[in-house]
Amino acid sequence: MTKKEKNNNADNETMNKIVSLCKRRGFIFPSSEIYGGFAAVYDYGPYGVELENAVKREWWRTMVRLREDIVGLDSGIFMHPRIWEASGHVAGFSDPLAECRNCHARLRVDHLLEDIGAQADEKMDEKEINEIFNEHKAEVKCPHCGKSDFTGVKKFNLLVKSNLGNFTDDWAKDPAYLRGETCQGIYVNYKNVLDSARVKIPFGIAQIGKAFRNEITARQFIFRTREFEQMEMQYFTSPDKEMEEYEKLRQARWQYYLDLGIREENLKWHKHENLVFYAKEAYDIEYNFPFGFKELEGVHARGDYDLSQHAKFSGKPLDYADPRTGEKYVPHVIESSVGVGRTVLAVLSDAYTEEKVGDEERVVMKFPRKLAPIKVAVFPLLKNKPELVAKAKAIYRDISVDYMCEFDDNGNIGKRYRRQDEIGTPYCVTVDFDTLENPPAGGDVTVRDRDTMKQERIKIEELMDYFKGKNLS
Ligand SMILES: [Zn+2]
Repeated sequence: MTKKEKNNNADNETMNKIVSLCKRRGFIFPSSEIYGGFAAVYDYGPYGVELENAVKREWWRTMVRLREDIVGLDSGIFMHPRIWEASGHVAGFSDPLAECRNCHARLRVDHLLEDIGAQADEKMDEKEINEIFNEHKAEVKCPHCGKSDFTGVKKFNLLVKSNLGNFTDDWAKDPAYLRGETCQGIYVNYKNVLDSARVKIPFGIAQIGKAFRNEITARQFIFRTREFEQMEMQYFTSPDKEMEEYEKLRQARWQYYLDLGIREENLKWHKHENLVFYAKEAYDIEYNFPFGFKELEGVHARGDYDLSQHAKFSGKPLDYADPRTGEKYVPHVIESSVGVGRTVLAVLSDAYTEEKVGDEERVVMKFPRKLAPIKVAVFPLLKNKPELVAKAKAIYRDISVDYMCEFDDNGNIGKRYRRQDEIGTPYCVTVDFDTLENPPAGGDVTVRDRDTMKQERIKIEELMDYFKGKNLS
């Protein structure tokens, strides 16, 4: 085994541990499991949905609440089909696909070529990529069976079709699409927002929502899925300010991940070398997932392509009359686009920790406290003492008013700590017999810190002030 293979195996092991913890502890489940599963879709369980909501809340706070120049939007998943013609998705949104003649696996040819170091990407047309594939066919091996016998390359469109609003049998000829990205909903509402909200250029529109892509090979857990959620912000600028605003956005997005609590050594910039013809510049922020550095977010300068296309296809002018200069222009767009699932996976990977405690090993999810699904867990020391249980329940109800809180009286305290460590709960509160004694001798509880495992006695009436200082939300 080479060193690289060894590292890869260790990394896959980490990935497998994260996937297994996610299922065991109720973060993320494979879709439709009791029916044998449904590929490339995942369901978020009780802790997963809390983590996901925290990720979305942080994004919205940074992108909308703390920015006076950015407003929010929630557009429909279904839109006029012409929108996807204008955007280029009907004609050009496709992946290059080949089939293994031996095991009939369907394979993404650009990924196969990438793996052997050949330059290829999904933007190439069928002829171009067939030529490169033919050149390298002998070196490429099927990742499933190891054989080297493939069909030619066909481009396969990623848009998901539906019969919404179409009641004929051949609806597939004239389908309504499930949106392939959320930003088109922003572009087609640009004028509505401009005319109704108190915004002027430069300004941005932000949206969080589901998108759908018929990915051929979905892989790496929630990294690439057919149904996914995007957080996108499109920023409209004058042509002369586009690159200046772009630099500002890049800095802001990098800082966002540091503020979120992601370790900086796990982040890097990747500059796109092959730009689509209209793009000015494109960078991705990559995260060091257990399977290597991969795209987390795209920060792109798109010129006036998006609004020009929609003006052309809709016949409605989308130019802007600048109130300061009287100048008329089609606004240029810079965008920030990131997946909720990818952010969740980055946060999970960053948090996953194995530690030695004495002779034992503990697994602990060291989530930044503001992202932790459960902020505080409350335990009665013993399950069969009604007065301990009643006091613990009362404290649990009080904390729940402000924070996601969990009550647990199952098993011994050590077992409960281990469970809370695995779901990343920053604080555990234990009610014991001292708690029940009247102040000043009693009236306090034990608070245990997830990361240091230190325990301290805190008075019940000071508990909420104690948590307030801990940056839990
Ligand atoms: Zn094969």
